[in-house]
Amino acid sequence: MRHIVYSDLDGTLLNEDYSYKDAKPAINFLLSSKIPLILCTSKTRAEIEVYREKLGVTDPFISENGGAIFIPRDYFTFDYDHDRSVEGYNVIELGEEYADLCGELKDIRKETGYKIIGFSDMTAEEIAKDCGLSLRDAELSKKREYDEAFTILGTKGQIDEVFRSIESRGLNYTVGGRYSHIMGNSDKGKAVDILTELYKREKRGSEIKTVGLGDSLNDLPMLKVVDISIVVKKPDGLHDPEIDLPNLIRIDGVGPVGWNKAINELFRRKIW
Ligand SMILES: [Mg+2]
Repeated sequence: MRHIVYSDLDGTLLNEDYSYKDAKPAINFLLSSKIPLILCTSKTRAEIEVYREKLGVTDPFISENGGAIFIPRDYFTFDYDHDRSVEGYNVIELGEEYADLCGELKDIRKETGYKIIGFSDMTAEEIAKDCGLSLRDAELSKKREYDEAFTILGTKGQIDEVFRSIESRGLNYTVGGRYSHIMGNSDKGKAVDILTELYKREKRGSEIKTVGLGDSLNDLPMLKVVDISIVVKKPDGLHDPEIDLPNLIRIDGVGPVGWNKAINELFRRKIW
């Protein structure tokens, strides 16, 4: 039996201060056990690369809420379909072009008159301040390719109206911990499915079991397609009440504390 762990970053492996310190023992366990750790996040490739480096993870990753899958070129031993090759990765693209998404968001702002602010409207300084990121990290978060992050300053009714307008344009939206996102016909679940299929091809004959860890609604498509789905608590000490699935494991512990506990119980105590 081979396990593959898919994990969200913000609010899941990372706490509010973007620290993964509390999850370090479990991360090290996965690394030493050679269990793939696939980062599956709303973050950009540029941001994820920083965390991969720090964590010592060399497995493929999924950027911008399923916008693309980046696979190190020699990772799999067989050829597979991909859309482009960049900087040592084969890239499977599922998302829409960033410029088009920003254009659609601008049209919605014009039509509704609501105050919709996207990352493309914000300076790196503004993003740094709003997200508690360093200026350098905020610059990396602006290197978007497949998904635009935005906020709507308005009532719940107005926010819902913006979401309906996104859908009526044949696009998707998702709600993350800090921002909403407009994207194409992509989500974390579709990307996880494609990557899991590649692992199955690679490990022909041995059974693959997938694990997914998340904290917010944008993780739901990922949690739906994995074999073992786990949510960690939000900083308010509660699990996101909007995430509900049969067999969902609600682990005790906020963000990386819960993450560490979940990996420990799964692989050491083998309780699931
Ligand atoms: Mg999250």
